[in-house]
Amino acid sequence: MRCKWCHNPETFSSKCELEWVSDKCTNCQACISECKTGALKVVNNKIAFDKSKCNNCFACIEVCYSEALHQIGRTVSSEELYKEIAIDIPYFEESGGGITLSGGEPLFQFDFVKEILVHLKQKGIHTAMETNLSYRWDLYKELLPNLDYVMADFKLFYSDIHKIWTGLKNSRIIENIIHLDQTGIPYELRTPVIPGVNDSHEMIEKMAQFVSSLNNAKSYTLLPYHPLGATKYKNLGINNPMEGVKEIPKSNFKELELVKNRIVNV
Ligand code: SF4
Ligand code: SF4
Repeated sequence: MRCKWCHNPETFSSKCELEWVSDKCTNCQACISECKTGALKVVNNKIAFDKSKCNNCFACIEVCYSEALHQIGRTVSSEELYKEIAIDIPYFEESGGGITLSGGEPLFQFDFVKEILVHLKQKGIHTAMETNLSYRWDLYKELLPNLDYVMADFKLFYSDIHKIWTGLKNSRIIENIIHLDQTGIPYELRTPVIPGVNDSHEMIEKMAQFVSSLNNAKSYTLLPYHPLGATKYKNLGINNPMEGVKEIPKSNFKELELVKNRIVNV
């Protein structure tokens, strides 16, 4: 899926990529001679980053002493990640906490996610996963034995509108919510409320009515849109489809919560 309001554009690519934080750039131009592809160049005496030309060689990072250039993402095995997590086991034991797999979408890396969940469960660590439930149900079924909790998004009720804003129809997602409801695993549903997309009473009513037909959802929460991802789009050189869209006014959001609460009590 590619939700237009996504605030984690750094998760779009399965590969490591370069982030250029323009606010930190001192225009020293040390990076220019390192960049053999022309992705970093000087335009009107200032640095400009053209993502389409970047081959993610990361040579420029080495010479940027202002830390304006960063590598986003790294390659790690499930064993290596587990070793990092294990350092926090005493903290989990004290706090009752655990690990939440998030994203983007964890199932984008299904094999890795499956492996790390097995490691975590073997050590008795509480496991949760945030997912858009858009993958095949048989994949979720493979993960569920090692999951204690699921947080799933239910973004839009109408399938055609869902496709316009996320790139996919929602029929499989709805089926998967129903499957999840039948498994008995504790789960919650969340709807990001996006201005001009699903912030009408009618949209929220429809979704709440669907949720009220389920038996085992622990909670159903509306999450207000926030434009915090805008800086990430700029730093990564990715076009932001929600450029200029503001937060939903608090009073409007409270009204939508009342609409939802009249139908769903969890
Ligand atoms: S090396 Fe870093 S601080 Fe200097 S121009 Fe390049 S990005 Fe900016
Ligand atoms: S990571 Fe991209 S911008 Fe940096 S040197 Fe390599 S090609 Fe140029």
